[in-house]
Amino acid sequence: MNESDTSRHFLRQWIEKDVAEGRTGGKVVTRFPPEPNGYIHIGHAKAVCLDFGMAELFGGECHLRLDDTNPTKESDEYAENIKKDIKWLGFNWSGEGDGVESGFYNASNMFEKMYEIAENLIKAGQAYCCNLGQDEWKEYRGVPEKPGRASPSRDTTPERNLEIFRDMKAGKYADGEWCLRAKIDMASPNIHFRDPVIYRIRHVAHYHLGDKWCIYPMYDFAHPIEDALEGVTHSMCTLEFEVHRPLYDWVVDRLDEMGMLPIRNGVKIRTEQREFARLNITYTVMSKRLLLQLVTDGHVNGWDDPRMPTVCGMRRRGYTPGAIREFCERVGVTKVESESDPALLEWCVREELNKTALRRMAVVDPVKVVVDNWGTGNVRMVELPNNPLDESAGVRQIPFSGEVWIDRADFMEVPEKKFFRMAPGQEVRLRGACIFKCTGCVKNDAGEVVEIHGTWDPESWGGNAADGRKVKGTIHWVDCSSGVAAEFRLYDKLFTEKDPLKDGSGEFLKYMNPESLKVVNGYVEPLLAQAKGGERFQFERTGYFIADEYDHTTVKPVFNRTVTLKDSYKPAN
Ligand code: ATP
Ligand code: MG
Repeated sequence: MNESDTSRHFLRQWIEKDVAEGRTGGKVVTRFPPEPNGYIHIGHAKAVCLDFGMAELFGGECHLRLDDTNPTKESDEYAENIKKDIKWLGFNWSGEGDGVESGFYNASNMFEKMYEIAENLIKAGQAYCCNLGQDEWKEYRGVPEKPGRASPSRDTTPERNLEIFRDMKAGKYADGEWCLRAKIDMASPNIHFRDPVIYRIRHVAHYHLGDKWCIYPMYDFAHPIEDALEGVTHSMCTLEFEVHRPLYDWVVDRLDEMGMLPIRNGVKIRTEQREFARLNITYTVMSKRLLLQLVTDGHVNGWDDPRMPTVCGMRRRGYTPGAIREFCERVGVTKVESESDPALLEWCVREELNKTALRRMAVVDPVKVVVDNWGTGNVRMVELPNNPLDESAGVRQIPFSGEVWIDRADFMEVPEKKFFRMAPGQEVRLRGACIFKCTGCVKNDAGEVVEIHGTWDPESWGGNAADGRKVKGTIHWVDCSSGVAAEFRLYDKLFTEKDPLKDGSGEFLKYMNPESLKVVNGYVEPLLAQAKGGERFQFERTGYFIADEYDHTTVKPVFNRTVTLKDSYKPAN
């Protein structure tokens, strides 16, 4: 981590202080606790960078904990992909014990423990079973300005509560018939403190435990238990949990009374929660519910569609883990809600790829150019650097046979002022090959240019004139005889509105960008057909592209546009 201002954020200072004051027992432990009910997105990536990053910075551990306490929407597919995406971002979980899964936890493995803790609370008169219906329960809870009303069951004896709770567990009641509530304070101005529900009945199978349970713990009860029992020292989450913090502390206090807090090097480990502003990005949506809707209703081609803000989507688009980490670093960690411009992320991607991506030539909107004085059967090899910024990347040879594809935009039959590219009577350089002078073009009945003709200067092989005369335009090309036909997927923003949810109607689909994906066919130089899925390139003068992870083959190359070559965007620092 560099020592820029954004890296010395308030959470880092908070941890630093605890380390200095000996509260961690010699080891900072953090966790990233995704619910396996979707794929992780760029917002989660920010939390990943923070949770794993802080553990790394302080030489501690970060656990990956699947927070699988809500059985309805969770699955192994999600769980496995969350793991894959975290590793791809460059992080790995670690913890006690050895083996690849050290530091990996399922919250559901703690269900027995949570149940035991709930019984302990009942026995101590700190929790009770309540049979108010959902609506009644809300009404009794009331509003922050006025004290709420006690449930009629609030003073049931611990013995009777235990009986009901055990019957809840045994499946004797239907969903919603009873719940377990912590007995705290019905008059608290914080409504999360007004006897919150900590267990509810759900007759739903769990993706790991099957039908073992029909009661499930609520997040506010389960999360501090998970953190505490794993020996987490610093639990970081998004701002919406700030008002839940007193409840988090209440649960940790009860665990302390039960003697359940772990001891590390003689220090009792008391987990603490702090909150930071979530990452929001314009021109997209980030809620997993909405992303799922885009997928299931077929508005995109799966969770890893390159237009999605998911980590797997960004991988398929060609973004690099380093660029995503750099973006998260630049966005910084604060307590103020704000929106980030996707252009910053694209800028980070461009910065990295400019240094690392091999240069290649591809033509996405082809028109043929014939060098009339070249001679049939004449093939010469052109040598070009793989990366002008990195000599060690070497050079490559490309055949040139006198007929090439160029991009349609590089030709104008009647050139505008300052158009230095191909036009009748004008000289241009065909990159690395020769100087070419256009003499005219052939058009079809619709008036479209189908073929461009001209001659080359035989004294200019390599691209420079023997007499030293200057040529302004240099054009990229693909040789017709050795080039390979390819598909290009050109991606743009998924939505046309900065905030697709702005009208609050939930009708965000109407702001989808109809131009967010354009599939076009063109040609690539021979080496590009040999690329492996997942390899990234700079297509000269066009943009950064990646060979598609799944669809690219040597016979039918498929490239996704990661990002265009240039943009007016400049980061503030
Ligand atoms: P969503 O709101 O998209 O459904 P979630 O918050 O329910 O996401 P979880 O799986 O519970 O998803 O999140 C795991 C962790 O990631 C939590 O600690 C959460 O605070 C954090 N997180 C989720 N979204 C963001 C975001 N946009 N920015 C930063 N952190 C986030
Ligand atoms: Mg959540």
